[in-house]
Amino acid sequence: MKSRRRRQPPTRPLGRVASHFTREGTAKTAYRTQAEAASAAQLAWTLSGVELNTYRCDYCFQWHIGKRYRDD
Ligand SMILES: [Zn+2]
Repeated sequence: MKSRRRRQPPTRPLGRVASHFTREGTAKTAYRTQAEAASAAQLAWTLSGVELNTYRCDYCFQWHIGKRYRDD
């Protein structure tokens, strides 16, 4: 039997799964395509000068944007 995948690991999540959630533990906004995520990232940059990157999420298989820190 394969190892079960827990939705919420007991320890601090690392890597791409962690990228699905904000620091507060709520799910981030998900975009269906990279283009949508990129548009949102560009809008954020335009409005507030925040530089965000886009990445595909292994958790929900959609796209998120986030700061350029792995530890977000
Ligand atoms: Zn996700």
